[in-house]
Amino acid sequence: MHNIVNNLILINKELSAINTNTKVIAVSKTFPIEYIKPAIDHGHIHFGENKVQEAAEKWTEIKEKNDSIKLHLIGKLQTNKVKFSLPLFDFIHSLDNLKLAEKIANEQEKKNFKPKLFIQINIGEEDQKNGISINEFETFYKKIEDFNLDIIGLMCIPPFVDDTKIYFEKMVKIKNETNLRELSMGMSNDYIVAAKNSATYVRIGSKIFGVRA
Ligand SMILES: *Cc1c(COP(=O)(O)O)cnc(C)c1O
Repeated sequence: MHNIVNNLILINKELSAINTNTKVIAVSKTFPIEYIKPAIDHGHIHFGENKVQEAAEKWTEIKEKNDSIKLHLIGKLQTNKVKFSLPLFDFIHSLDNLKLAEKIANEQEKKNFKPKLFIQINIGEEDQKNGISINEFETFYKKIEDFNLDIIGLMCIPPFVDDTKIYFEKMVKIKNETNLRELSMGMSNDYIVAAKNSATYVRIGSKIFGVRA
């Protein structure tokens, strides 16, 4: 059996031993679609990309043929790219500013397609990272309440440290102050820790597809 498929099966086994509700987003950025194909043929549903243009080139055709595939935008979304992102992406994980919220609200109206959204939290309060800061979250969440957006949860990319557990715990705390259900957190290095701490989506790239060039 193909390596990629084997990796997926193993990861899903590990996760179901902890928490059957955690879904795996196979992060296929930088890999060509022929390389990703075995995972699609295996029936994997959730795939993640971090660039709009690359995703459009790789996934537009495949998605037309196979409407069970769900594509996730996990990277930063510039407001001028929003029009190219719908209906390509079923999920957008990087909502973190008002302008972007407005743009998505407009575009979903035009396209009659509502993507599911995660608000990205800058959980480590790092200058260089995207995401809304913890202090500003509540105000931001209130401000976009009337936008008719389909916000389903929160997403984070924790600081690059050995133990990310405290950040996942912080995310759970913030989530519990809302009525949101989903948590997008955990990558190749820490998806087990994330799943143990209530992640509902983990975003796994290299552990499935190998090291990126
Ligand atoms: C690339 C990427 C991932 C996957 O990273 P791996 O360490 O290869 O699993 C997850 N989330 C985001 C936001 C990414 O950009």
